[in-house]
Amino acid sequence: MKKQHPLKPFFSLILSTNIPRAAFIIGLAASILTTIAGLIVPLLTKQLVDGFSVSSLSFSLAAAIGAAFIIQAIVSGLSTYLLSAVGQKMVASLREQMWRKLIRLPVPFFDQTASGQTVSRVVNDTSVVKELVSNYFPQFVTGIISIVGAVAILLVMDWRMTLVMLLSVPVTMLIMIPLGRRMAKISRGLQDETAAFTGDVQQTLSEIRLMKASNAEQLEEKQGFNGIERLLQYGLKEARIFALISPLMYLIVMAVIVMIITYGGMRVASGAMTTGALVAFLLYLFQIIMPITSFAMFFTQLQKAKGATERIIEILNQPPEETRKGIVLDIANKSVRFVHVSFSYDEEEPVLKDISLEARPGEMVAFAGPSGGGKTTMFGLLERFYEPTEGEIYIGNIPIRDLSMESWRSQIGYVSQDSPMMAGTIRDNLCYGLENAEAISDDQLWKVAEMAYADQFIKEFPQGLKTEIGERGVRLSGGQRQRIAIARAFLRDPKILMMDEATASLDSQSEGIVQQALTRLMEGRTTFVIAHRLSTIVEADRIFFIEKGELTGSGTHEELIQSHELYRQFAEQQLT
Ligand code: ADP
Ligand code: MG
Repeated sequence: MKKQHPLKPFFSLILSTNIPRAAFIIGLAASILTTIAGLIVPLLTKQLVDGFSVSSLSFSLAAAIGAAFIIQAIVSGLSTYLLSAVGQKMVASLREQMWRKLIRLPVPFFDQTASGQTVSRVVNDTSVVKELVSNYFPQFVTGIISIVGAVAILLVMDWRMTLVMLLSVPVTMLIMIPLGRRMAKISRGLQDETAAFTGDVQQTLSEIRLMKASNAEQLEEKQGFNGIERLLQYGLKEARIFALISPLMYLIVMAVIVMIITYGGMRVASGAMTTGALVAFLLYLFQIIMPITSFAMFFTQLQKAKGATERIIEILNQPPEETRKGIVLDIANKSVRFVHVSFSYDEEEPVLKDISLEARPGEMVAFAGPSGGGKTTMFGLLERFYEPTEGEIYIGNIPIRDLSMESWRSQIGYVSQDSPMMAGTIRDNLCYGLENAEAISDDQLWKVAEMAYADQFIKEFPQGLKTEIGERGVRLSGGQRQRIAIARAFLRDPKILMMDEATASLDSQSEGIVQQALTRLMEGRTTFVIAHRLSTIVEADRIFFIEKGELTGSGTHEELIQSHELYRQFAEQQLT
């Protein structure tokens, strides 16, 4: 196997962003031009200075220097803009790629990764790559040109002096390389720490009610402070290195200047060199030393970008859900069958073991059993959030995994216990994800709201359907959220319906209303319910009793009461 260059993934990622190449090349060329112009200025200065001794000042020369400065300024402005624009376009393209991927990653990815960390990848890591491309890389290239050019000119002007000056280069490298290495390590640590900190902050803020209700302010304060402290430590480490770099560079520059002035002064005195040449030497000195300093930054930034790219690529390389691939099928009037389905979240412990069952079209099927038995997991498999590790789920005679995810999910409805909502208006939430959302009339929405017994409370809001419901629907009560979820299901008219303890968290009054709405919703659809109420379960056509991932009994309520000891106990104690 060929060994891959460690920077290869970085370059292929950069190329994948379709950076505007023309703009990049022009920007880089302009920046090189500026550098070359910069190289000419000391030469002109030399002539200007030497001109003094010939009594009259040369105006044309002064004008040439002035013109060189102005052109340099203009070209340099152009190059700065072009290169930044390229960087910005690149970061936008990277973020687009990541976002397109992220929203299509399968649920298990999000089970394993803190969302705040992922946020940091999209926001911070992409910026690191941008900085490298629009700042540090052009600096590096022009730096090399500046050094090579300056040294070449100096060698021609006075090779002895040049050699004296070049003594400073190995000394500078000796200092900069180890500092650069250390810096790279710190930067990567800082990146990871930033991601972790973002993750913690987001986690706490999104569960602010739990935090307050648990009096966890002090705990969170401490944890937050710990994160901030760790960031501070990295920041200070970075500051210490910067603090070392500038005075060290200053020392070197001063030493070389002193050396050059001393040696050069002697040579000027002896007539081997002109004053102008000495001035030019000093100016070139800066054009050699400064880029060397920026090299340290470049290599640091390159390391940082390498780390950032690895994490970006890690996300980009995850296989997405192919929502449109597969068979498009009308699933009405087809039975749903689990055939020897086993499943585990993490290779180790099986959560579902060899489950086989059938729900005929239009039936209401209930899952019952102790908490943690795997009922919600069955719904996760039906939604295709997860795939069975063994066995198959069929709709009619077709495995659901062969269906297009989009087609399948558009025909099934899921009303869960906590009815998740998006920030936005009631209308936004009812129409969420529907293709022709704008075309749906208010009348249609009121109709489904009425069917879900939601019209009353929506009418009471002054803004009606345009009422903003807040992040995760916090401005609504549980029962109201639930009824909006049901209205949403009515609007989609699913063929198969799943309800996960849909009334468990409600007070008895809203429970009554929501239950009525649900009963109405279930009519004519194949329905799976995870039930906690005896009344729901008694009405079910069939009940499947699931314990510790195994199907231990099935039948009607009466049959199970007769045949299943644990079900009888369960029905007496748990179901009211
Ligand atoms: P039920 O709905 O019957 O109460 P669940 O299906 O929610 O049970 O959970 C079944 C088992 O799977 C539990 O032991 C739970 O710890 C585990 N589990 C549930 N969700 C996940 C997940 N996303 N990752 C790992 N384990 C999970
Ligand atoms: Mg559950």
